[in-house]
This record gives sequence, structure tokens and C-alpha cells, in this order.
Amino acid sequence: APHLLEVRDLFIEFHTRDGVAKVINGVSYHLDPGETLAVLGESGSGKSVTAQAIMGILDMPPGRITGGRILFKGNDLLEMEEADRRQVRGQSVAMIFQDALSALNPVFTVGYQITETLRRRAGMSRSDANARAVELMDLVRIPAARTRLGDFPHQFSGGMRQRVMIAMALALNPKVLIADEPTTALDVTVQAQVMDLLGDLRRDLNMAMILITHDLGVVADVADRIAVMYAGRIVEHADVHSLYANPAHPYTKGLLESIPRLDTRGTELTTIKGLPPNLMHPPSGCTFHPRCPYAEEICVEQVPPQMELGNGRTSACHFAQEVLDGTIR
Ligand code: SF4
Ligand code: MG
Repeated sequence: APHLLEVRDLFIEFHTRDGVAKVINGVSYHLDPGETLAVLGESGSGKSVTAQAIMGILDMPPGRITGGRILFKGNDLLEMEEADRRQVRGQSVAMIFQDALSALNPVFTVGYQITETLRRRAGMSRSDANARAVELMDLVRIPAARTRLGDFPHQFSGGMRQRVMIAMALALNPKVLIADEPTTALDVTVQAQVMDLLGDLRRDLNMAMILITHDLGVVADVADRIAVMYAGRIVEHADVHSLYANPAHPYTKGLLESIPRLDTRGTELTTIKGLPPNLMHPPSGCTFHPRCPYAEEICVEQVPPQMELGNGRTSACHFAQEVLDGTIR
């Protein structure tokens, strides 16, 4: 059977005044019902852009899909009739963002904003929509939901606003929820609460989730699999436990070593030195080579293929197996 959602060999370019940036360079990932895939990477690695392409909101700056397919239940979103595409993007796949304030309209009450979606897209009556809005706000654990329908976005705290946005995203029972850095703007305690909520929701609603983040620390409890992105490619893809236990790509290894852990508290954190590449003039061969402690001549000369490591695990490194085995240098 086809996957619920599959991105297959996607390529995206941004055309700017200064030239062409190849921001997505052959990205493939997939998602099945109820699964959570974390997409991890630094800013500019292409994790949001891929999601924006799925949602059809890839317009700022002018991005262009130059290859690949985006399949929902086996049907290519890029080829289907506009009405069908709108159905998938408006209903089956929903997205939430880092900044709830900009996703919500400041001049309307949250009750109005939730019910408006239900009335316009699901054809509900006013009273049904109101009842459903309260249900949704209960679902995302907004206290005293019924009394808050008439409140405006600015009357909610940052964490509660994030919950309102999640409620809106859930209004039409999406099969896939894409969460783009949903907790980055929140303080640590609230972050944990919102991540807990997302974890519970995807379990209770059997919803698939793509969790986009730059923070390896937040995904361990929620995600089933992780796709690590660097310079518009997935450099490692593995189930969470295998990846944490034994990274198979030097970039992932570097990310893991830069997370503070209880057992290494007090020792100096390693951080990955250097900056992400300029995608208008990417480094030759493996784009990570200028920052990689294991780089050899082959890394400068040849783009590493996706090495298959078993159990669906891949690493785009010439020395993937050695990194995995811990036998590299
Ligand atoms: Fe490092 Fe070479 Fe592997 Fe790239 S291919 S990650 S430079 S060892
Ligand atoms: Mg982003």
C-alpha cells in the first residue's frame, strides 16, 4: 500500500537577485498513519522548505520545485486537479508554526476563527461549530474553554495561543499534522507542556506528525524516526533509538555531542565548528566536508550516496559504516 505521505526525490531552487540557491537536493521521506517523523536540522537546512512545498505555501522568497513528487496516499499533489489538491492541503494535512501570533488574526476572537473554519470548510451550523470549537479547545487543554471563545489572541499567553493554533489545525481532523518548530518561541516549561500535548494528540487521534525542529533534545520522547537534514539533503535517517544510541553520520554525531547530558554535566560541550554552507556556492563533494572531523580526499571530490545500513536506516557519508561501528579514527 502507498504511504500516507511521501516526499520522493524532491528538488527545490530559490531564484534570487544574487543567483540560484539549490535549497532542496533530492529529499525523500515518508510517513504512515499514527507515526511521528522528526525532521532535524540547522536553520537553512531545508526542513521548513520541504514542509512548505507539501502545503503549497512555497512562495517567499520565490521557490520553485524542479524535480520530485509529493504523494498523498499515492497520489501526486503536484499533478492532481486543483480542487483535489486543495482538499488535501486544506483538510487532510494541516500545519502549525512557531509563531502563533502571526497565524492567528488579531482582530477576531479565537471562537470566531475556529468556528469560521468549521462553517466554511465543513459546512457546520453556527451552534454545531460552537460546540465543536469548545470540544477542540478542551482537547488541547485550554482551561475553561467555553468561557474563552470570545477572547482575542492577545488575551492568551504564548503557550495558550499555541494551543489555539493547534485547535484550529485539528478542526478538520487532519491525517497529518506538520509542526514547524512549534515550541521554539516558548520558555522551557511551556515547551515541554506543548510537546506533551502533541505527543498525546497524535496517539489519541492516531494522527501522523512531521515535527520540524533544530533541537535534538525535544524529539526523543515524541518521534518514531528522525530525518537529519544538512544543506538540503537528508544526511541520516533512522529510528530514534538507533540514532541516539549510534549515530551513523558525523553531523548527527556532532549534534548529539552538543546536547547537554546529565552524565557529562560540568564537562565542556562540543559544538560543531564552522557555519552551514552558502547554498549558492555549496562546497564540492560532501557539503559537510569543511566542518567534518573525518573528511578525506574522497569527501571533497565525490557526493556521498545514501548508504543503506539495514532496517530502513540510511546515512549519506562515505564512511557511514565506520561511523556507525565507531571504528573511524
Ligand atoms: Fe564527513 Fe566525508 Fe562523511 Fe562527509 S562523507 S560526513 S566529509 S566523512
Ligand atoms: Mg524554519
